[in-house]
Amino acid sequence: MVLDDLIPTDVLQDALDGKGRIGRLFNGIYTMTDTVTGERWTFKVTTAKRGGLAGRRIIAMLTGPRNTDDYQGVGFVNDDGIVLWRRCQDSGIKLIVAAFWDRMVHDENADRFHVDEASTCICCNRLLTVPESIQTGIGPICADRLMESRLPEEQRAKFRKMRRLRAQLMQLEEVE
Ligand SMILES: [Zn+2]
Repeated sequence: MVLDDLIPTDVLQDALDGKGRIGRLFNGIYTMTDTVTGERWTFKVTTAKRGGLAGRRIIAMLTGPRNTDDYQGVGFVNDDGIVLWRRCQDSGIKLIVAAFWDRMVHDENADRFHVDEASTCICCNRLLTVPESIQTGIGPICADRLMESRLPEEQRAKFRKMRRLRAQLMQLEEVE
């Protein structure tokens, strides 16, 4: 992490907006879905345990297929707002993070932005961050296995072939 990255450049502060705080952003992993566009973003809020940032709360965003590891920090989480890091000047990130903060802390735009807190698969205990998986409690791989196990023996090979084709077509993410 480059020191330059950590110099705050933009502040999403409630005090600046004159907003009263009605909630808190707790540590955890959350996926926010824009119900209008279908886009979704996964955020991880943690408290740094080691190094110069120990004790600071950090918000990171999922940027790769592995929902346990592929996160990039974007800013500090304070009680009254999020301070974005310099390399996150990108206005897209700023708007998304601001929408997430307002949704979580002020319950704003609840009809547009849906937030699911991550859970784990009932079969394999893997982390679930995709809304459909969180809501059903089972990841897509385990869901397929479960379905396959319920099929008559003669249909299983066909089902597996279909599953492979679908994975190729959709370049199915590894994220459960
Ligand atoms: Zn599973």
